[in-house]
Amino acid sequence: MPFQDLPDRLADVRGVIAQAQARGGRGQSVTVVAVTKTYGADAVTAAWNAGLRDVGENRVQEALAKRALVDVPVRWHLIGHLQRNKVKQVDDFHLVHSADSARLTDALAAHGEARGRPLDVLLQVNVSGEGSKGGYVPADVPREAERLLTLRGLCIRGVMTMAPFDADERTLRVVFGGARACGETLRAAGHASATELSMGMSGDFAVAVEEGATLVRLGTVLFGARPA
Ligand SMILES: *Cc1c(COP(=O)(O)O)cnc(C)c1O
Repeated sequence: MPFQDLPDRLADVRGVIAQAQARGGRGQSVTVVAVTKTYGADAVTAAWNAGLRDVGENRVQEALAKRALVDVPVRWHLIGHLQRNKVKQVDDFHLVHSADSARLTDALAAHGEARGRPLDVLLQVNVSGEGSKGGYVPADVPREAERLLTLRGLCIRGVMTMAPFDADERTLRVVFGGARACGETLRAAGHASATELSMGMSGDFAVAVEEGATLVRLGTVLFGARPA
């Protein structure tokens, strides 16, 4: 059976999350998004069978290809950069975590309006300022929050961020706390539904939960080393 140790790995992950909630945490509930990128479609089925209901992919084409191969009704999350000419392809996604620029949010909003139902998205913020990472600069979020109020094709559900690889704990807290502050900015501007905080990956999800994460995006800690 593929991924046969997934149930045990997931139990360990849930234990780490519960401890982080007890230590820090903000009374939030935490959803595990199983990141199946580069694994086969059998990872999606294994996730469902282990009790997971949310699956994340960072490329829309790869997600759609896998979705055609499985018959389990997981919720699909897009966690990687989306090209503007592909916004129609996110139609059946539960949540797009990677609305990372004004141009992309405009394109997503146009599609949401055209189909007559808003798209649920998170604003991706680049708190660390690393050039290799996409996303809004936190200083731009207040102005963007005002602008987004005028786009009826989107429902802003919160914020997503990524910490630098191998960051120390102090840096993680600065980055995750910065993302949390961006969520507060969105709500203060009138985006009442902006309550989700997508942050934390295999190496840093305990600190992310302590800092308020509601969605943790986990790949290798659940499925083992990714195939190249
Ligand atoms: C790959 C990926 C993850 C999961 O990474 P792991 O370290 O394997 O848990 C989370 N978020 C994003 C945006 C990713 O691309």
